[in-house]
Amino acid sequence: MNKISRRSFFKKGALSIGTMVSAFTLSPDSLWAGSKKEFKTYRTKETTTICCFCAVGCGLIVSTRHGEIVNTEGDPDHPINEGSLCSKGAGLIQTSVNKRRLDNVLYRAPGSTRWEKKSWQWAMSKIAKNIKDTRERTFVQEKDGKPVNRTDGIAQLGGAALDNEECYLIVKLARALGLTWIDHQARI
Ligand code: SF4
Repeated sequence: MNKISRRSFFKKGALSIGTMVSAFTLSPDSLWAGSKKEFKTYRTKETTTICCFCAVGCGLIVSTRHGEIVNTEGDPDHPINEGSLCSKGAGLIQTSVNKRRLDNVLYRAPGSTRWEKKSWQWAMSKIAKNIKDTRERTFVQEKDGKPVNRTDGIAQLGGAALDNEECYLIVKLARALGLTWIDHQARI
């Protein structure tokens, strides 16, 4: 017996309905094109992806039209989530399509009450300098006569949008700097 996935079942079902409609003089194209009820995923390209927000790894379908994301939804064929998503995954489209999302660096100097717009290069250099200065100021070589070589003045907190590979590299860097305060937002 041929196995049929849920997604292809729905696709075949939609195609059958479209064929029935066309038998009554309307083709699926003439039915939907220009119609106010056009599906937002009509004439889109579907690509599967994995939610970036936590280690559950739910599968999603991303629909794009002319290179723009128009919809994201749970992938019913994915073995982990079978189409369902939590509230974070359900809002995944906003990581790309969101007018309110900041796309430049804002910096508030110590004691200041206003935010200044800065370049990414400025931010990278500032972060690197702060890390270097703090590490040199707080590095502990020995504790109770034993070598510890650790940086007590910096903590590292991972975010749920980081994937496995990013977490791996970030923790490698944190350990190399001597950090011991390392945690992840998803665990807290
Ligand atoms: S954040 Fe939610 S949707 Fe995303 S992988 Fe985790 S459980 Fe799944």
